[in-house]
Amino acid sequence: MKCEIIAVGTEILLGDIVNTNAQFLSQELARLGFSVMHQSVVGDNEERLAQELKTALSRSDIVITSGGLGPTPDDLTKEVTAKVMGVELMQDKESAEKIVNYFKSKNREMPEANYKQAMLPSKADGIILSNDNGTAPGCIFIKGDKIVVNLPGPPRELKPMFTDKLLPFLKKYADSIIISHSVRLYGIGESSMASKVDDLLEKSNPTVAPYAKDGEALLRVTAKGKDEQEAEQLTKPVVDEILNRFGDLVYGIDCESLQERVVALLIEKGKKLGLAES
Ligand code: ATP
Ligand code: MG
Repeated sequence: MKCEIIAVGTEILLGDIVNTNAQFLSQELARLGFSVMHQSVVGDNEERLAQELKTALSRSDIVITSGGLGPTPDDLTKEVTAKVMGVELMQDKESAEKIVNYFKSKNREMPEANYKQAMLPSKADGIILSNDNGTAPGCIFIKGDKIVVNLPGPPRELKPMFTDKLLPFLKKYADSIIISHSVRLYGIGESSMASKVDDLLEKSNPTVAPYAKDGEALLRVTAKGKDEQEAEQLTKPVVDEILNRFGDLVYGIDCESLQERVVALLIEKGKKLGLAES
């Protein structure tokens, strides 16, 4: 499956916010074995968004957008997607009720403009992705063999919607799954680390790739399997071999940082660390 991601928002173009949604979506799609061929950013502008969508659809099977699902007039991702896909939006009763109830539960008056968020593709043209963390539902437009998914911009809404609502749909199109494990090392440079695993770096499934980070190094082991279990089985012996070769230089697997690992170990061992500056 060829995929691409369009982040919608002038804020991103101005550099006011970082496009973390694209990072998250790319990582998740890669795990499904989908090829992410392009990522782009476009401002809140009808014409440029329509152009971007058309270009994306001419070369990809699935296009995922983030942002622009809010109630204000500059939020136009859904309306533009509907036009480009040749689909009519209709008010979805259930979504409208959900939005009304959302405002009631927060004891807030609902602005009329929020009804716009309940304008969605009908069952014949797509699927609605309900939003458990905000008012804007996401949606999937399906036309022939082309799919466009609209997800909300706020990461705290986009991430759970992707995982809980979109992932089960996308899994139907996945014929393999990709899994990565990062073995993190401290006290050895990237080149000496790499020279100790020359033979492993030549492998193809799993692949082993060396990376250098601030003052540390890591080896990423990545396998492709027909399911999670098969991919895990492929990575395990290679991760074990790396642990074997580097011993105490390995400080963690799949952890965020040395700091996080130190704190986790202190908690696990019931120890305290005091720091003082003078
Ligand atoms: P809202 O209902 O909040 O308007 P929306 O779906 O219209 O939601 P945007 O207006 O595009 O989304 O963005 C809302 C907020 O979400 C932004 O201010 C920003 O904090 C965050 N956000 C949007 N796009 C991204 C992105 N690509 N990466 C990270 N954060 C983002
Ligand atoms: Mg908005």
